[in-house]
Amino acid sequence: MKQIPEFDVARCKKCGICKHFCSAEAIDVHEDGTPYLARPKACTSCALCRDMCPDWAIRLCDLNEAEIEVERVA
Ligand code: SF4
Ligand code: SF4
Repeated sequence: MKQIPEFDVARCKKCGICKHFCSAEAIDVHEDGTPYLARPKACTSCALCRDMCPDWAIRLCDLNEAEIEVERVA
């Protein structure tokens, strides 16, 4: 099953590294710097955003579960 990132906003320090390293350009940031998965279909589940996050604020989860989170933070 496809997996996409879920962001833990309590851990995130809004550094933008996840967006920077996402070659699929699936991640964007809100005005305050909080990242979100702007283009879920573009995500290739490569896990680079999770691996590069210095604050362990990203986990990959199944698409269905994550869709709920995307709606919640949108
Ligand atoms: S890399 Fe981690 S801490 Fe930095 S903006 Fe992304 S989720 Fe937040
Ligand atoms: S898993 Fe890969 S393609 Fe998907 S948002 Fe993270 S860095 Fe981008």
